Amino acid sequence: MSDGLDTPAELVQNAAKAGVTTLAITDHDTTLGWDEAIIAGRQHQVRVIPGIEVSTRQLIGGNRSISVHILAYLPDPTNSALVQELEKTRRSRIERAKKMVALLAEDYPITWEMVLAHLPEGSTVGRPALADTLVSMGVVPTRSDAFTSILHSHSRYYVSDYSVDTTDAIALIRGAGGVSVIAHPLIDFPAGASMTDLPAEFFKILIGAGLNGIEIEHRSVPKQAKQWLKNLAVKHNLITTGSSDYHGIDGKDNRLGENRTEPAMLQRILDQASGFEAPL
Ligand code: AMP
Repeated sequence: MSDGLDTPAELVQNAAKAGVTTLAITDHDTTLGWDEAIIAGRQHQVRVIPGIEVSTRQLIGGNRSISVHILAYLPDPTNSALVQELEKTRRSRIERAKKMVALLAEDYPITWEMVLAHLPEGSTVGRPALADTLVSMGVVPTRSDAFTSILHSHSRYYVSDYSVDTTDAIALIRGAGGVSVIAHPLIDFPAGASMTDLPAEFFKILIGAGLNGIEIEHRSVPKQAKQWLKNLAVKHNLITTGSSDYHGIDGKDNRLGENRTEPAMLQRILDQASGFEAPL
């Protein structure tokens, strides 16, 4: 219900085909896909762990901020503080996408209605929907090509969006009984950078705010940072997870089951969560 190309039911069916027995579904800033995924999970004998990928922003000195995605596993989907914040984010994403469409329309015959045709009703709008529209118009051959060219954050068509502060999001997730895990950390860490450049202070702030875990096994987490992240997790008794971040066959190169979470770590998530009971 955000930027994956499979419907929640198709996602679960494809997971079953790929031999996945337990699957987390974490759409951006919405819980709209949970029910459909849970029902499909019962049909296909896949245990579905409902979650959200919360878009957040963290100030990193001066007036510079970075985009940080925080996975919220098993929060109460009716928690009013969380629901309100997610609604605010989704509304701002619509305004931001409309602004990007207006800029793109100066050079391409794109309209907001065309973008809406690529989204199920009520779902979270992001650059992937713009990418799909541009692909359908023949402007770019694939989603990835759109991201590396006209939709890149340095492109003149790019507009940034409102996101809740990362530390506030961690507190909101905890308040809703969820477990917070930082998604694919350090994906922008330069390949040649020294290990001493790793942002220890940034993680200290997140851990101080109550972060529960780190997603380490993910194709975009830099190899040279993984051991550092594992040591950090041990030091602070954090959960570590692995995930595919699958977005559909044509959504991204990521394939179902390509990275996994250890059963003991899943158990820690289940033990720490109190917002929503994971279906058996
Ligand atoms: P947005 O949050 O609207 O700025 O868009 C970012 C989202 O686009 C991320 O959460 C990814 O899921 C998706 N994304 C980023 N890079 C790519 C890519 N190369 N191909 C497909 N999807 C991407």
